[in-house]
Amino acid sequence: MDFNNILKEIQDEIQKYFTRGKLPDYIPMLAQADENDFAMSLITLDGEEFNIGCSDKKFSIQSISKVYTFTLALEHYSKQLYTRVGHEPSGDPFNSLVQLEYESGIPRNPFINAGAIVTTDCLSSIYGENAFNEILNFIRKVSNDTTIANDEEIFTSELGHGFRNFALINLMKSYSNIKNPVDDVIQTYFKQCSIMMNTKQLAKSMLFLANHGKDPFSKSTIINVSKAKRINSLMLTCGHYDASGDFAYRVGLPGKSGVGGGIVAVVPKKMGICVYSPKLNKHGNSLIGTKALELFTTKTGLSIF
Ligand code: GLU
Repeated sequence: MDFNNILKEIQDEIQKYFTRGKLPDYIPMLAQADENDFAMSLITLDGEEFNIGCSDKKFSIQSISKVYTFTLALEHYSKQLYTRVGHEPSGDPFNSLVQLEYESGIPRNPFINAGAIVTTDCLSSIYGENAFNEILNFIRKVSNDTTIANDEEIFTSELGHGFRNFALINLMKSYSNIKNPVDDVIQTYFKQCSIMMNTKQLAKSMLFLANHGKDPFSKSTIINVSKAKRINSLMLTCGHYDASGDFAYRVGLPGKSGVGGGIVAVVPKKMGICVYSPKLNKHGNSLIGTKALELFTTKTGLSIF
């Protein structure tokens, strides 16, 4: 398949959507992104790479970080993890408080904010004050890139404005579903969200999920086959908040979005993908990113269905 040409066609066809969508403003630093940016990267299991647009430009991974923290927490806790976070789609926005109150402080899944905050808390119980460094090291390992780091300005921007996340963590603390000090856990969560990566690095970091949990280059096992299946399943059913059904319907791949404008996706047994475009749809997912992935699976037939 001529992936370079397919990426070129996608870039041409998405141009008409640049007038749509909105930059997120509840984290002030994210509102400063360049609305016209677009990048898409593919990397196959045998290491062939295809890129278009600003694929070297780093942006904050935001909720894409939830994939890595869920992977790490699942590795340590196995089924025990599901006593504290569920595995069902929420049908609610990413930062909703309502369902959490009804369900006694147990978040529906690890890919909504409340669920990710619980997985970060689980990692804090294991790693203590090293939790953020361990998360970062894991991301560096699966991306095979030791230069990856977080952006302190974006971290501080969210720390000063992430009021709903403070509400979520305090509500869960009141139900005893947060074991560590609220301030420590929320800071680790905001720090992991402020990690900066480009589409090339993010696409590469998905390869273990496309390869039954194994790094295709070093052949080392990141996570076992069964857990890799579960992570992919949850990305398919819960990776885009209350638009997860729509994403599965349009794109047909496991994926995870972040309000920084990135979306990662996995083509099982074939490749990792990442697309970046910072303007979001009303569900908080990259509008053009979703469109580009829909065009990709339509043109290539590479969906899981
Ligand atoms: N840091 C963001 C928040 O907690 C993550 C949300 C997202 O990327 O979807 O609001």
